[in-house]
Amino acid sequence: MNVYDAERMADVLAAQGYVETPSIDDADLVILNTCHIREKAVEKVYSELGRVRENKAERARDGKETRVVVAGCVAQAEGAEIMRRAPVVDVVVGPQSYHRLPELLAAKSRDQAVDTEFPVEDKFRQLPARRIAPQRNVSAFLTIQEGCDKFCTFCVVPYTRGAESSRSVEALMTEARRLTGLGVREFTLLGQNVNAWHGEGPDGKTWTLGRLLRQLADMEGVERLRYTTSHPRDMDDELIDAHRDLPQVMPYLHLPVQAGSDRILAAMNRRHTADEYRRIIDRIRGARPDIALSSDFIVGFPGETDADFAATMRLVDDIGFASAFSFKYSQRPGTPAAEQADQIPEQVKADRLAELQAALERDRAAFNRSMAGRVIDVLVERRGRQPGQMAGKSPYLQGVHFDAPDDILGQMATVEVIEASAGSLLGRYLGPAGSVPDHATGIAPAPAEQPPSPQQRNANAA
Ligand code: SAH
Ligand code: SF4
Repeated sequence: MNVYDAERMADVLAAQGYVETPSIDDADLVILNTCHIREKAVEKVYSELGRVRENKAERARDGKETRVVVAGCVAQAEGAEIMRRAPVVDVVVGPQSYHRLPELLAAKSRDQAVDTEFPVEDKFRQLPARRIAPQRNVSAFLTIQEGCDKFCTFCVVPYTRGAESSRSVEALMTEARRLTGLGVREFTLLGQNVNAWHGEGPDGKTWTLGRLLRQLADMEGVERLRYTTSHPRDMDDELIDAHRDLPQVMPYLHLPVQAGSDRILAAMNRRHTADEYRRIIDRIRGARPDIALSSDFIVGFPGETDADFAATMRLVDDIGFASAFSFKYSQRPGTPAAEQADQIPEQVKADRLAELQAALERDRAAFNRSMAGRVIDVLVERRGRQPGQMAGKSPYLQGVHFDAPDDILGQMATVEVIEASAGSLLGRYLGPAGSVPDHATGIAPAPAEQPPSPQQRNANAA
């Protein structure tokens, strides 16, 4: 979402005559868009500000002025603190106020240049239409929902991003239509809690994400749809059916579970058990058998015992994730879990993280290797590093490289996977998508053609 927000900030500033510079040395205005989710991300902001300060001093020696903005969730949470600790900063702007950047930049004093309010009016309505082609060109982010009302006990999001709010179908269709006009073929719908989206439909009724996906799938030019990040409790039938019925909805789902122990899940206020999560996954696999699953994990949540951690490892073995993100629990100011007395020692967290990551990496590599020999469609996003090479994504969000003529850039290509390493796939170009008969991607493959899920692979190995 920070990538999306940064693009929108660029839109606002482009209307003021600003252009992006390839190097920070050329920039009259530097914006750090920041993340508050873990302590490590926050530390990065302050060390980066040190570098920006040196840069500003160097430019000043050449008689050039540099203005510095801190945006995003660190700005939201620690605006006053940033102004105090880092005099290099001119403007602080929270994630709900960046449409006001031009005014804030015009402010005469630093005191007037802090905006971390949650304005009642819809930020999106204030933003200019998206004018620059998004970074990846054919694949664009589209924020449909912001904020969170779930209050997991470890998480700062409900405080930094505020209460849940959903954009209307009309606003989203307008933005999507504009982007397909610019050549976008894939949308990744974004939200802190994307499947809790419940926007107003053109019929005045409240729509769910499953229905929105149907509407977007009908839009001319839309070839692929993805969405992130979802909460297990909001995986309703309509959404699961969309995975079964819509070839545009890609067979990849990021559905964070965080932990495998019911005791820890309850302490986290996730409001589901590990077995409920397993059953949700069964339903999703029932609808789309080849779906690749991904999750986030936190190890070392306060009070996590060896037995609790073992339950997480069991869940990993049971599900077989195609990819995952995993973190050591980080105490976040103002969150309930940060106040708990039974914090876990750093070394225990580090050991558990290493063990978990080894298992996740094993499954990811196995999933990637299972792609060898398969014929898949690839959305070609950019040129590869080698001359003549193209790069894009498989339906399962894996990076794929292959040699192909230049005119396939921005199009869908059919590719045979000839080498599947743990990290990415190397392919042989067969032709533009649609020109190669007898393979099914996008459309759910018949059972015999599915790649083995890591779960099946584990069963075979056993
Ligand atoms: N809304 C999503 C997650 C958003 S935050 C969900 O409910 O799943 C992204 C990820 O950061 C989380 O899934 C979690 O794994 C991680 N995270 C959030 N707070 C954290 C903390 N205090 N310490 C460590 N990891 C954290
Ligand atoms: Fe944070 Fe996600 Fe929980 Fe909301 S649902 S509080 S964003 S982890």
